[in-house]
Amino acid sequence: MHRPPSTLTRRKFLRGSAAAFAGGSLFRPGRACADDYHDIPLGERPTQAPGLEILNPRGRVPASFIIDDSTCLVNMGKFCMPQFAEAWPDRAEYKKDWKSWPDEIPDSFVRTFAEWCQDRGVKGKYSIVPYPAMVGWVDREMPGWSRAELRASVAYVRDVMAADWDIHPEMITHTRIIDTRTGRALPQKDDGTYWMENGGWTPGKSVDELANYIAYALNILKNAGFHCDGATTPGGFGNGAIVNLSQAMGEAIQSVYKVDLPHYFKYLDLDKSGSTAPRVEHVSGLKTGNPNAIVNVLGGTGDWFGGWDGVSAGDVAESVDKFINADATSGRMVEMIEKGDPAVFLCHWAGMYHNGDLTGFRIFQQVVDRVIAAYKPRIHWMKLSEIARYQAARELTAIEALDGGFQLDAPYPCPAFTVRLPLASDKAPAILPVRDRIPPSLREVATKESLVPNTWLREGDHVTLCFDLPKGETVVTAN
Ligand SMILES: [Zn+2]
Repeated sequence: MHRPPSTLTRRKFLRGSAAAFAGGSLFRPGRACADDYHDIPLGERPTQAPGLEILNPRGRVPASFIIDDSTCLVNMGKFCMPQFAEAWPDRAEYKKDWKSWPDEIPDSFVRTFAEWCQDRGVKGKYSIVPYPAMVGWVDREMPGWSRAELRASVAYVRDVMAADWDIHPEMITHTRIIDTRTGRALPQKDDGTYWMENGGWTPGKSVDELANYIAYALNILKNAGFHCDGATTPGGFGNGAIVNLSQAMGEAIQSVYKVDLPHYFKYLDLDKSGSTAPRVEHVSGLKTGNPNAIVNVLGGTGDWFGGWDGVSAGDVAESVDKFINADATSGRMVEMIEKGDPAVFLCHWAGMYHNGDLTGFRIFQQVVDRVIAAYKPRIHWMKLSEIARYQAARELTAIEALDGGFQLDAPYPCPAFTVRLPLASDKAPAILPVRDRIPPSLREVATKESLVPNTWLREGDHVTLCFDLPKGETVVTAN
C-alpha cells in the first residue's frame, strides 16, 4: 500500500514505493505517481518588505506525528489485506496470513498511546477511516462490536484525543470506491479487479467529482461529532489528478466544516536536500478579507515502525536509528530539525499495535525519547492544522516597512507568530494599537528557549518578538 521506498530515485519523493513507481502504472496502490506536486498552482502572494524576518513559532522547529490507517476498533491491516489482494493479485505483499490476525485494535491501546504522548507533549494527526474497509460505519454500526463499544471508541477520540490530534478522514473506506449516490461499492471491473481508493480511480477526475467524494467522507465524521480541518489521502488517491485534488480538498473541507484554513496530507519528501515546509496552494482573495487557500502538509519520513499491515516491523534498534541515532548525530529527524524544517514523521496504526506485541509503539517511544532528550528546548509539538496555519501566516501576511517599524496585514490569525527585526535604539520593541484594538504588552526574556506569546528577546542589534497575530493589521516597532 504505502511502504517506504527502498531506493530514492527522484529528488522529490512522492509518497509511496519506488517499486510501484517503476511499475509505471497509476493503477497501482501507494503514494508514488508520475505527477509532481510542484505543478500545483500556489496562487497569490503578498508583498513582504525586507527587514522583518518571520521565524519558526517561538523560534523552535515544529514537530508532528502523522498516524495513518487508524479508525475506531477495526484493525485495518487485517481487513484491508484481502481486498488489496483481490485488487492487485500479482503483488506478493498482499499474500499474507490475515485470517490469523486480530479483528480489533483495542481502545485500551489507543488510550495507552494517547496518554503516553500527552505526557510528553507529542501532537499530530490521527485518521478516522469513516467506513473502514467496509466493515461498518463509525457514525452508525460496526458489525462485530456493540453500539456501546462503538460510541465509547468514537467518544474517546472525539472528546479526549482531538485536543492534541487533528482528526482526518482517510477517504471513505481506504479500500473500495463507494458510489456516493447509493453508499455501495462500485461493481467489479470487467477485468476482474476493483475500483480502489488507494489507486486507480482518480486519474482524470474533475474538481467537483473529487470534492463530492471527499465531502462524503467528511460528512460521516461530522455525523459522528468529529471536527476536521483536514483530510488524508489513502495511498495513491488523487494520483493522476493532483492539481484538482488540491482544489477539491479545499472546497470539500470548507463546505462541510466552514473552516477558514483547510489542509491535507498526501506527500512525503524524504530527501535531505528537499523541504518539508508545507505548500500553501490555490491562494486567492488575499485583499478581500475573505481569502481562500489549501495547505499541503508534507511528511518527512517513511514508515519505519511496523508497516501498514501490522506484521512488517524491522529490527527495533535499526529502525529507531533511521529516525535518530543514540547521540543525535544522524537520522531523518535529526536532518529535519537541524535544518529548521518541520520534523514530521509518520506511521500506520496497525504497525504501532503490531497485532498486540506493540513493536511499532516501542520503536516510536524510543524515537520520541531520543528527540526530546536531544532537542526538547528547540522543538515545538504541533498538530498539522497548526503547522498549516503558521505556514499560511508566514507566506501570506503582507509586510510594509514604516519609519522604525513594520505594518503587517494578516489574512489568517496565527498563535505564537515570531518575527525578528533590527533594533534601532535602546527602547523596548512594542506592538502599537491599531484602531480600537488594545495591543498586548511585551515582556523581555533572556533566552530564546523562553519565547512564548507576548515576549521579546534582545540579540545584539536585533530583537525577536513572539505574539498571537490577529487577522488584519498589526504594527510592530523597534525604534
Ligand atoms: Zn493509509
